[in-house]
Amino acid sequence: MNITLDDKIKPAYREVLNRNPGETEFHQAVLEVLESLGPVLVKHPEFADHRIIERICEPERQIIFRVPWMDDQNNVQINRGFRVEFNSALGPYKGGLRFHPSVYLGIIKFLGFEQIFKNALTGLPIGGAKGGSDFDPKGKSDNEIMRFCQSFITELYRHIGEHTDVPAGDIGVGGREIGYMFGQYKRITNRWEAGVLTGKGLDWGGSLVRKEATGYGAAFFVDEMLKVRNNSLEGKKCVVSGSGNVAIYTIEKIHQLGGKVVACSDSGGFVYHEQGIDVELLQQVKEVERRRIKDYAPHYPESKYIAKGNIWEIPCDVAIPCATQNEINGRDATMLIKNGCVAVGEGANMPTTPEGVRVFLDAGIAYGPGKATNAGGVSTSALEMQQNACRDSWDFEYTEQRLQQIMRKIHKLCYETAEQYGSPNNYVRGANIAGFTRVAKAMVAFGLI
Ligand code: GLU
Repeated sequence: MNITLDDKIKPAYREVLNRNPGETEFHQAVLEVLESLGPVLVKHPEFADHRIIERICEPERQIIFRVPWMDDQNNVQINRGFRVEFNSALGPYKGGLRFHPSVYLGIIKFLGFEQIFKNALTGLPIGGAKGGSDFDPKGKSDNEIMRFCQSFITELYRHIGEHTDVPAGDIGVGGREIGYMFGQYKRITNRWEAGVLTGKGLDWGGSLVRKEATGYGAAFFVDEMLKVRNNSLEGKKCVVSGSGNVAIYTIEKIHQLGGKVVACSDSGGFVYHEQGIDVELLQQVKEVERRRIKDYAPHYPESKYIAKGNIWEIPCDVAIPCATQNEINGRDATMLIKNGCVAVGEGANMPTTPEGVRVFLDAGIAYGPGKATNAGGVSTSALEMQQNACRDSWDFEYTEQRLQQIMRKIHKLCYETAEQYGSPNNYVRGANIAGFTRVAKAMVAFGLI
């Protein structure tokens, strides 16, 4: 049992371990939040009377289902589908779908749990959920992707809706997959219900800036953290892990804000480009051609591709992990600090292990946890829902302005909450306390449900 946990909270955590055996990522995400909450119970004893912590750790509803589909060789394939509807105190369940072979209930629950507090921080009316499948999209044909998405939604459609639960993308789920799911939902329900999914195409109910939003938001958040330290992204050498949607648009915005990203990666290795990553080429290779990051290097003789290398060994001022959970361990974090890193902003969900988080906090650098730093994606999903609800569509400039305002507000809320609770500069505390308090107040107001 971690000794940093307040005595009053320990039994709740023990209960989470007992009730959810083997779900290590979920345990990790819960512990990280509960560690921040001791002072909240002192200020709000009513949260303990209402057993808010115990209730918030138990999903409102968990759906697990079979997803059968036919591959291109006419073989029947079977995957497992999930949707964990974690908390609807602040709005309809909201959160992405992840298609990746590592997916199991523990991953979906960690993501759903994080999503509750992330969504609360945005100040927008959205509850928390997550879903997905252990389906591996890598190497699948377009037809296989379509058949899988259709089968997935043929079960999930009965659980979702614009006022109930609104899925979106995550790893392995982008515009193409949302299109196939929206089409099948429309066919089954006979409803053109824009608000049921976000991340839609621009011609059929999507929002400008949604695609860019998680990455842009992460860059804005890092910029805000640096600003309060009288610093900026101008001239900063940055390393961004990953090369999917979040990484690409983080790089684009960092460049616009004056920083230089010198490396990015995929599960095979990383590319190092001292002159700065060429975002257009990266988009071409990864988004258009759906190829690997090793295919970037041949275009620039001065860049190099390092197979199986550790991207965190590259000295940098700013690190933005945008790949996946637990990609920075204690050793990586120590190395980043030793090499002079002054800011870390998490574009991915829970990319730093608890040991790594400790290193960043002890070093006193600007460290933005995922639930605050990467909230721009889901925020813009909520803006997409707003546009759908009034059958409107906003222009790029206005939508990006709204995103930037939201990121500034989240930063301010986390910063001020941390200070108010006696942990200045600790965005982990600030985010957890501010997000939790919003949800807890609503749950108290609703009575025992
Ligand atoms: N999957 C994204 C996240 O981790 C976005 C979710 C959404 O837009 O609903 O927040």
